Amino acid sequence: MTSAPFLTESLRRHVYRLADEIGERNVFHPLALKEAENYLADTWQAWGFPVQRQVYEVEGVPSTNLEVTLPGRDHDQILLVGAHYDSVLGCPGANDNGSGVAVLLELCRLLQSLSLPRTLRFVAFVNEESPFFFTRRQGSWQYAKTDTAFYRYSCYHRSCDTPEKLDYERMARVTHGLAGALRRLSQEGI
Ligand SMILES: [Zn+2]
Repeated sequence: MTSAPFLTESLRRHVYRLADEIGERNVFHPLALKEAENYLADTWQAWGFPVQRQVYEVEGVPSTNLEVTLPGRDHDQILLVGAHYDSVLGCPGANDNGSGVAVLLELCRLLQSLSLPRTLRFVAFVNEESPFFFTRRQGSWQYAKTDTAFYRYSCYHRSCDTPEKLDYERMARVTHGLAGALRRLSQEGI
């Protein structure tokens, strides 16, 4: 399994690429959104994973979900792990959700050499942040009311959600923990 220092550095590199070099990425910044999509797809492909693209249009902008599958050995069941790669307006999105996408990338690499019973599918979703705005515009505050992330992270959805604030060693430990949990779920089911 990937060593902790290597994993830590790799997670850090993904977050800096997404939240510092590329920055705010959403349908209102379509070039950055495309750049983020390409970074994720190129990274997975460079590691040897075939990437499926699901393209649709939002606000006239082609938007792409990316999917990598680690086929299971002897089951029809699929475990799906997802993270969104867009960022909310005015926010570089290091924590939300560069960190989640970085972990998503690395989970594939950590789990690829195992022969597991159930299929694992990893999806990088686009436009997960948009419904927040569209919902509010429509007058429904359901999403905001149930979203408690404001209380957990003071830079949530703000311009101060930048890469240097994250703890990459801890993120690496979480990634290893998630990989172990997914391995168990693939073996034992939910
Ligand atoms: Zn968010």
